[in-house]
Parts: sequence; C-alpha cells; structure tokens
Amino acid sequence: MIIVLKPDCTESQLEHIFEKIEEMGFRYELSRGVKRSLVGVIGEEDQLRNAPLRAIPGVEDVVPVLKPFKLASREFQEHDSSFDLGHGVRVGDGDLMMIAGPCAIEGEDVLMEIAKEVKAGGANVLRGGAFKPRTSPYSFQGMGEEGLKILRNVGDELGMPVVTEVMDPRQVELIDKYTDLFQIGARNMQNFNLLNEVGQTNRPVLLKRGMSATVQDLLMSAEYILSNGNKQVILCERGIRSFDSSTRNLLDLAMVPNVKSLSHLPVIVDPSHATGRPDLIPSMALAGIAAGADGIHIEVHNCPEKALSDGQQALLPDQYAEVIKQIRELAPLFGKRIPQPQ
Ligand code: PEP
Ligand code: MN
Repeated sequence: MIIVLKPDCTESQLEHIFEKIEEMGFRYELSRGVKRSLVGVIGEEDQLRNAPLRAIPGVEDVVPVLKPFKLASREFQEHDSSFDLGHGVRVGDGDLMMIAGPCAIEGEDVLMEIAKEVKAGGANVLRGGAFKPRTSPYSFQGMGEEGLKILRNVGDELGMPVVTEVMDPRQVELIDKYTDLFQIGARNMQNFNLLNEVGQTNRPVLLKRGMSATVQDLLMSAEYILSNGNKQVILCERGIRSFDSSTRNLLDLAMVPNVKSLSHLPVIVDPSHATGRPDLIPSMALAGIAAGADGIHIEVHNCPEKALSDGQQALLPDQYAEVIKQIRELAPLFGKRIPQPQ
C-alpha cells in the first residue's frame, strides 16, 4: 500500500502516521517528493487492505500497489533515484556510471596500469573481482583479501570509487572494509541471504540480472535489498541465456526502458558479459545509452591473452577510450553526462 500524504501534512502528523503503521504491525518507508510525499507501507497485502489507514490525519489517499515489488516501483517514487558513489561520481538522474577494469584483480602493478588507462579513457568507477564465481572449480578463483587491498589502494591512489563482487553473506563484513560498492553477480541474484545482508549496509549495490531471471525476478531481488533499508540499488542488464551460441548471452536492451518505466532505480548495461565479444561491445554500449541506460560496465585488460579470467571478452584500453569518446558525443542527446572522479 502507498499512503499519499496531504500537501499540508505536518511533521507531527507524519510521526503519528508512522506510529499507527507500527502499531498495526507493518513497516514503512518515506519517499519525499517535490509535489507530493508518499509513505510505502510494507506488510502482507491482504492485511493491509483491511487496515484503516485512510482514517489517520494527514493522509489524503491510500493506493494499493498491485505489483509485487513496492519500494522499487515508480508508484512509490516518481522521480529517478540517483546515488553518490564517492569521489564526486554519481549515478542516475542524468549521471552516467562508467565502470571499467579487469574481470579479476591479478596483482597491484597490472591493476594500476589498467586503472590509469581506463581513468584516462573516461571511466569513473574501477572494477575488479577478488572473489570470482567461476563455472569450474579448477579455474582461478580470485586473490581474496589480498586482491581487495590492491583494489582499495589503486582506487585511493587514482581517486576513483571501486566495485567488487560479493558472493556470500559471510564475505559482506570483509568486503565492506575495502569497497565503495558491492556487486552481486548474475549467479547470486537470488541468493536471498546475501541480498538481506547487503540490504543492511549503507553501500550502493550493483545488482546484476540472473541468467534466466525475468524483469520481475530482478525487481523482486532489488526489493529484498530495499526492504532491509538500503535504498541504493543499481540494476544491471548483462544478458540472459538463449538458444543462440553465437554470443555469450543475449543482450536484452528492451529491458532498460521496460525496467525504467516500472522502477525509479538506475539501470546500467554490461555489454561485456552480454555478448562475450570485443567486436560487439562498442556498438552495444552505445545502444545501451540510446536505450536510456544510466551507465555502462565494460571489462578492460592491457594484455587480454594473459588475463586470468574473461580475457577473450576484454577490450584493450585504446578501444575502451574510443567507446567513451563516442558515448560522450551521444550522451547529451539523451540529457546525460559522465561525471569525472575528483
Ligand atoms: C563479472 O562481472 O565479472 C561477472 C562475473 O559478471 P556476471 O555475474 O554478470 O556473470
Ligand atoms: Mn567477468
């Protein structure tokens, strides 16, 4: 249920509304808008329908949200969400988040070199996996905490926010010490314990779409994080499984405007994991921006043939800089800009 507040609802009426909601055994989230403020009431929909919410002073209307996701919905918040990522970089509401870096952290020198190049090319967030979800248990699994330290050092040295993947609720506390954003990968999109755990932190979460997840599945996973109190969720389209093996996955670009019509959360596109092919990444990155994405996630390596993970899909730093140059030309047509890290 969403409570629409009267325009002249006072702060003490609002406090009273919160008390009543809690008394009824429900939870709430406030969304302050320019024209109207809303209170999302969270609880079992059947019980909510019978609750006398409309009778509370300051309440103008009570609207049922028929969709199963509530806090993620446009009904709950009309305006686009935007989040501060650190070092003057923001995402959403016109600001593009340009994530780049190697699939895995492989060592300080390699990461520093790649990071300098992607930053010069226009990236504003540095990525690198320290815990890697590999299909084979015999593949490189990541450097662990040593990798996290390297990522933090390089990010600090270059003044860039950093993002890294968390695979298990037991890793949240450790990774929280080193990263600016948590990434939840496709394979863990429905790891509900993990979603609950990152939902209790204050860090933005980059939530990647599962390989066979519907748009509704993705938004329900975002809802887990939001309902734990963390409002900073960024969604990522990274391709879904299809019958066609000519690309690694099938990039669902229509998902971007689709999700943005249903939700206020920022949506970014990862053409690297979606296509798995460096020759297709530049055009799909541009298409992502044209589809309305709030950012692009691209894997870059200075020597892809030596990469310990996903080398076959990595762009070279020069190729990356060229993509960003084109995005810089395209972005203003869509009212977007790329913030530079300070
Ligand atoms: C990654 O970003 O390196 C990754 C493993 O992505 P995904 O979860 O989308 O496969
Ligand atoms: Mn990868």
